[in-house]
Amino acid sequence: MHNPIFSLEVFPPKRDAPVGTIYDALDGLEGIKPDFISVTYGHGTHADRTATARIANTIRKEYQIPAVAHLTALYSDKERIDDALNLFEEAKVSGVLALRGDHLEGLEPVGVFDHASDLIAYIHERKPYLKIFAACYPEGHIESKSLDEDIEHLKTKVDAGATHLISQLFYDNENFYEFVDKARAAGIHAPIEAGIMPITSAKSVYTMAAKNRTKIPKYVVSLLDKWGDDLPSLRAAGVNYASQQITDLLANDVNGIHLYTMNRPANARRIWHNVEPLFGR
Ligand code: FAD
Repeated sequence: MHNPIFSLEVFPPKRDAPVGTIYDALDGLEGIKPDFISVTYGHGTHADRTATARIANTIRKEYQIPAVAHLTALYSDKERIDDALNLFEEAKVSGVLALRGDHLEGLEPVGVFDHASDLIAYIHERKPYLKIFAACYPEGHIESKSLDEDIEHLKTKVDAGATHLISQLFYDNENFYEFVDKARAAGIHAPIEAGIMPITSAKSVYTMAAKNRTKIPKYVVSLLDKWGDDLPSLRAAGVNYASQQITDLLANDVNGIHLYTMNRPANARRIWHNVEPLFGR
């Protein structure tokens, strides 16, 4: 029977934010029944891996929900990755989302892990019992020349040991369906969760879309135009749009939904309320 996965994503509070804000974000998710919550990883040479590990540990211990820790590698050497993996192990994470991370202006990569597949192969060798997740891009990663080329590289990540894929956000389900068909045709059989990011402001939609080459359907543009600076109405429309996307994805047998909560639990709760009956849990 089709039993779709439902997962959530949170991020560690910014360095200058009170530590307690993560508890507000997690407390606010009460009532949602995710299969796991993933915790993002700060990028660059000063990334604080202890924050990701600490929050993953809190999610598992205090909220009794499996946690997945993200890890980026472009600016790390093996020692730093080993350190992070040991911390994640102590936190008893259910898996690691292994990422390359973005190139940062003016900062030379360390040169050990040039692609996510290098990190995946390393984790697979060092900690063979750890479940490895990887990122995928329904509209192609911004640096790749074509979706086909990106899917070839995705296959390399799966062949290196990734067994679960989570997609970048997208607003047009048709693009996701085409991507899944192409990935399957390329021999990628790992479950692919669809990444859904609720609209919270026009600025964030346009910024994320420009950064990731995400297509914005006319209907979403009309919502942004209609509600403009009226944020409560725009967010309500965003909750509806995300709920519609999820409903359609589930009707089309998606393997799972990964909801980017952006530490805004109220939106996530409203979406869950709309779609929970479809998950049958
Ligand atoms: P890769 O898989 O290495 O791909 C990057 C580019 O290189 C692609 O264009 C790919 O086609 C190409 N490529 C891959 N392998 C090869 C190869 N062997 N030869 C030539 N080209 C190749 N960022 C953070 O900093 N912290 C986070 O916590 C975080 N979480 C994320 C969660 C999800 C679900 C997603 C989708 C993204 C996340 N990101 C995060 C962003 C991510 O770090 C960026 O998208 C980054 O630019 C690419 O990471 P990747 O792991 O997909 O890289």
